[in-house]
Amino acid sequence: MKFYSTNKQSPPVSFKEAAINGQAPDKGLYFPEYIPQLDVAFIKNIETYSNEEIAYRVIAPYVGDEMSEETLRRIVAETVNFPIPLVPVSDTISSLELFHGPTLAFKDIGARFMSRCLREAVGGPGDVTIGGHEKKGEVTVLVATSGDTGGAVANGFYGVEGVNVVILYPSGKVSPVQEKQLTTLGGNVVALEVTGTFDDCQAMVKQAFMDQDLRAARFLTSANSINVARWLPQQFYYFFAYKQWKDKTTPPVLSVPSGNFGNICAGILAMQSGLPVSHFIAACNVNDIVSDYLRTQVLTPKEAVPTLSNAMDVGNPSNFVRILEIFQHQFPALSQHLSSATITDSETSATIKYLLDTFNYLADPHGAVGYLALERYLAAHPDEKGIFLETAHPVKFPDAVEQITGQPLDIPAAVQSIMTLEKKSILLRPEFAALKDFLLQ
Ligand SMILES: *Cc1c(COP(=O)(O)O)cnc(C)c1O
Repeated sequence: MKFYSTNKQSPPVSFKEAAINGQAPDKGLYFPEYIPQLDVAFIKNIETYSNEEIAYRVIAPYVGDEMSEETLRRIVAETVNFPIPLVPVSDTISSLELFHGPTLAFKDIGARFMSRCLREAVGGPGDVTIGGHEKKGEVTVLVATSGDTGGAVANGFYGVEGVNVVILYPSGKVSPVQEKQLTTLGGNVVALEVTGTFDDCQAMVKQAFMDQDLRAARFLTSANSINVARWLPQQFYYFFAYKQWKDKTTPPVLSVPSGNFGNICAGILAMQSGLPVSHFIAACNVNDIVSDYLRTQVLTPKEAVPTLSNAMDVGNPSNFVRILEIFQHQFPALSQHLSSATITDSETSATIKYLLDTFNYLADPHGAVGYLALERYLAAHPDEKGIFLETAHPVKFPDAVEQITGQPLDIPAAVQSIMTLEKKSILLRPEFAALKDFLLQ
């Protein structure tokens, strides 16, 4: 399998090369040259397969013979080694809980898979020759985070030989749990605490990738959601959801809290590979340029505004171009399978309270957006049933949740233990020169 760039100005590459490059040199996103079709009998009998086997069968066509079957099976097993339960909330709505991984957000799946693939691709310390680069020594993964990405990436790459991780985060603008997840690992993970905003962090990282001195001195790669090794494994849990779906004659409507649109795009890819899905809903907060697109067929980026569901505060979703690619830029096909909903902060708060009072279910703000978008869709389609993706544990957003419920949150044991660890970060001015000095030292 080869991956082409959506801008079509860079040559097609292998899976490993796409994973190492992150983004294509022409600034396009890598996309598979064809969408593999899964065996009909496999889907029909999905309940009889283990999660490891399902994940292996889904990803194997993309990786091809670039890894041995044994290696890929090991990576997959290490990626999905925590529960991903489908929990009934009401008669018609279930929650797919994606927050039982080490950093309590769905990004754990992609980050764990990607880190292990990168280790295979670079083959540990020593010389590396991929994509025309030849560098002595190690790969440096550089990533800017507004919260969840940093923790998942830090955890996924922690202890991976041949890979150093440098995470930039905005000082004082991530939640206490998120900060501990970034700053307490040590080892091959360094946290740079930038005295600026997330946009500053992202601008510094972008500049680093373009800087000739840095490119000559360090082998830099990124770990954001446009990387195929993070994007493709997100298909796994859509299949796990269907495995647990009772009424196989009525496929589920899937509501996906969406920001950069990597997660929902992976779900749509799974559907095009043969997974039965009735319809997809992109559940958005007020940063909803895709809702505008579905009305007008024009995608107009907007400045992101802050909301309670801050992991979805994205004004120009990078992965939307992949959704266009899946549907070959045919709007009728796209709009048949995908609709969107816009949920305000006050609706999000009211939904968290409603879910707790009515069903004794505690949702985080992102999951609440997903629930309400689904409830509205089902009101207009009374013969259907659905699933919303619960993308993070409520404890990651304690201020929003405790204020609404009026109750202190139960802290999971995994979080309690990191909250007592010492934060280790390096303060950095929000200037590229400061980052460059750090990376060259
Ligand atoms: C990243 C994130 C999202 C958005 O996912 P995309 O793939 O960017 O659309 C939603 N919820 C949570 C909790 C996240 O961390």
